[in-house]
Amino acid sequence: MSVQSLLTNTPLPKDKILLVRLGEITLKGMNRHKFEQQVIRNMKHRLKDLGHFAISQSHSRIWVEPDPASASGGFSTDSQIEHVIDRVKDVFGVVSVSPVWRFAGGIEAIEAMACEFVSQLLSDGRKQSFKVESRRGLKSFPYQSPEISGRVGGLLAETFSSQLTVNVKEPDFILYVEVREHNYLYSSIIKAQRGLPVGTSGHGLLLLSGGIDSPVAGYLMASRGMMLDAMYFHAYPFTSDQAREKVVDLARLIARYAGRIRLHVVNFTDIQITLRDFCPPEMMTIVMRRMMMRIADRFAESNHLKALITGESLGQVASQTLEALVTTDQISTRPVFRPLIGLDKDDTVAIARRIGTFETSILPFEDCCTVFVAKHPKTHPSLTDAVDAEKELDIDALVTLGLGAIETEVITPRYDESAPRGDV
Ligand code: ATP
Ligand code: MG
Repeated sequence: MSVQSLLTNTPLPKDKILLVRLGEITLKGMNRHKFEQQVIRNMKHRLKDLGHFAISQSHSRIWVEPDPASASGGFSTDSQIEHVIDRVKDVFGVVSVSPVWRFAGGIEAIEAMACEFVSQLLSDGRKQSFKVESRRGLKSFPYQSPEISGRVGGLLAETFSSQLTVNVKEPDFILYVEVREHNYLYSSIIKAQRGLPVGTSGHGLLLLSGGIDSPVAGYLMASRGMMLDAMYFHAYPFTSDQAREKVVDLARLIARYAGRIRLHVVNFTDIQITLRDFCPPEMMTIVMRRMMMRIADRFAESNHLKALITGESLGQVASQTLEALVTTDQISTRPVFRPLIGLDKDDTVAIARRIGTFETSILPFEDCCTVFVAKHPKTHPSLTDAVDAEKELDIDALVTLGLGAIETEVITPRYDESAPRGDV
């Protein structure tokens, strides 16, 4: 193969595939295999509707390529590879993704392919600075990494002398060359979500409302490998069907990262009316929150969900003072994870924007908590205040009522572009 073939514009034989790098999980020693298998499973699941892909693994990296055994699917177009990248980078455990050229041959093949690769990068006519970084994983290859970089870099600088200059400190782009059982070339490294693969840290129940906070809380726990079920307390007609649709939509947006979510919608109307009629108004929010916790905790118990998750943040509203949190914490027999507890609202909003839930969260449909809230809720309730406020209630009967009125929907991810997201 000759370098001159680049000048004839005949594309050289190569495969366009995806290199996926795993993060933290590679540090996990003994569990590493299990974690890698889980990432692969999650990736397969996330790519299911885009075609058939062969996903393989070597040296803590994962390769995604069109499945040669199937007629449909594969990276036949650049837009298809972009779709796949977009999905793969949202799988927790993945640190970065690169579209890669894979080809066979010795140093001449690498040189020729590097010329073709760079001629495509330079096709817009802009002048750019660059450097080459090489890695030799195949010890029998007759050139060492610095020699490969020197040869390829020198050739490129000479071939494209009107557009390219070498800059080893701050180049516009780096051409990466890897020599392993095949040769690989790439120049872009796209950042992914990082975290741990969902399915490696147990299964929790997210109390999901239509607000800004709880979707972010769910995202954060999923990023630590926790699988999610979600529970929404719906009080129709005090809260509209649009409010419920909004929660379903939020669950779909989180499922992009967390995978499939079972959403349990509790009919909360009669319970809420009872609370309104039999509890002091200034304690209404606390009693309602304790009621939600009881139902969620009992449901979690019988569904093997090991933790509850809320979007609470210390001091954010009257029901999230330390005293108020103590009164709700006391209800649950399992850990209550509140990943936003120490975050400013601005920080939570920034995450919500980045993950694409913000625009849906701010749609103006009433949450059931806002419908009955008192003008002056008690901000520092003691446990005794809470227990006192509930003394007229038949708690067990209300919990049974809630547990008997649950509709479950299986939520799959929403990927359409109408939900804007930020870069990682
Ligand atoms: P969010 O933005 O998540 O609604 P918030 O700041 O509005 O949170 P609250 O309304 O006080 O706070 O709710 C605190 C937490 O209680 C929520 O983050 C959520 O986890 C849970 N929660 C509140 N309302 C509901 C609901 N209707 N269904 C399920 N969970 C709820
Ligand atoms: Mg709310």
